[in-house]
Amino acid sequence: MTKILKLLSLFLLALIFSCCENNIINDNPKWAIVIHGGAGTILKKNMSPEAEKAYKEKLSDALNAGCNILEDGGTSLDAVTAAINVMEDSPLFNAGKGAVFTAEGKNEMDASIMDGSNLMAGAVAGVSTVKNPILAARAVMEKSPHVMLAGEGADEFAKSHGLEIVDSSYFFTQRRWESYKRANKNKYGTVGAVALDKDGNLAAATSTGGMTNKMKGRIGDSPIIGAGTYADNKGCAVSATGHGEYFMRNVVAYDINALMKYSGVSLKEAANYVIMKKLKDQGGDGGIIAVDRAGNFVMTFNTTGMYRAYKNSAGFSEILIYKSDN
Ligand code: ASP
Repeated sequence: MTKILKLLSLFLLALIFSCCENNIINDNPKWAIVIHGGAGTILKKNMSPEAEKAYKEKLSDALNAGCNILEDGGTSLDAVTAAINVMEDSPLFNAGKGAVFTAEGKNEMDASIMDGSNLMAGAVAGVSTVKNPILAARAVMEKSPHVMLAGEGADEFAKSHGLEIVDSSYFFTQRRWESYKRANKNKYGTVGAVALDKDGNLAAATSTGGMTNKMKGRIGDSPIIGAGTYADNKGCAVSATGHGEYFMRNVVAYDINALMKYSGVSLKEAANYVIMKKLKDQGGDGGIIAVDRAGNFVMTFNTTGMYRAYKNSAGFSEILIYKSDN
C-alpha cells in the first residue's frame, strides 16, 4: 500500500513539474516585436499633447502592421519590413518622408535589414529617390549578390526592381527644413524594428535620413551591418539609433550580440554594458532595441527619451517616449 502511495505521489510530482514547465513555455511569447522611432533629447516639457498623441498613434500603427504578420504566422523579416514602412511613410520620423537634410539641403537616406536565420543582409546608403529605402535594402539582400549598394547605383537598382521612385521633393517637410536652416546638429529620429516569429527566427531593420546637417556623402551606422543593425538566431536581433559615428566605432549591434553569444550574459546585461557604460563613457548618445530567441527584449538608451513600443503573443504591449516612462 505504501509503495502504491509513494508511486502515486511521484506521479503527482512529475505531473506538477511538467505543468510548471508548460507554464514557463506558455509564458514565453511565441512571437514578439519591438520598434523605435529614434532616441535623443526628448523631453515632456517640450512636447505638446497633440504631438505626443500623433507619435503614439503612429508607433501603434507601425507596431500593429508588424503584429498582424506575426500573429498570422508570417516571418519576422516581413514584420520588421512592414513596421518600418509605416514609419518611413510618416513625416514624424527621420526616415523616408520627413528625413533630415544634409548640409547642402538634400535628403540622403540609409537603411538595412538582416535575417537572423541565415545571416543574410541587405543595405542601401545615400539613396535619394526610392520612396521606401527599407524595401530597397531588402531587395539588395534578396535580389543581388551584394550586401550594400550606395548612391545612384542603389536608386537605380531599386527602380529596376519595380520599387516606387519619387521626386526628391516628396521627402520634404517644413519641420526638418527649419531644423536644417537653424543649423541644428545631432538631431536623431531614425526608425527601427526587431522581431521574433513563431518559427523562432529573428530579424532586424533600421532606416534613417541620418543626422541633420551631415556632410554630403556621410553614411551613418544605420546601413552598416553590425553597427546599426544585426540579427543572429544564435544571439539576438538589434536595431540602433543615436550618434552614428560612435555606433560605428563600437560596432554596437554586433557587440551586443557577441557579448550574449560568447560570454553567456543575458540580453539585458549585454545591452546595459554597451549602451549605458561603454558608449556613455565615450559620450556616444543613443539607444537600441533588441529581442532574443526566448522573446526577451530590451529598449535601452542613454538619452532623455526614445520613441519605442513593443508587443508580444503573451499579451504584453506598451508605447513609451520618455526616460521617466520606464
Ligand atoms: N544613427 C543615425 C545616424 O547616425 C541617426 C539616428 O539614429 O537618428 O545616421
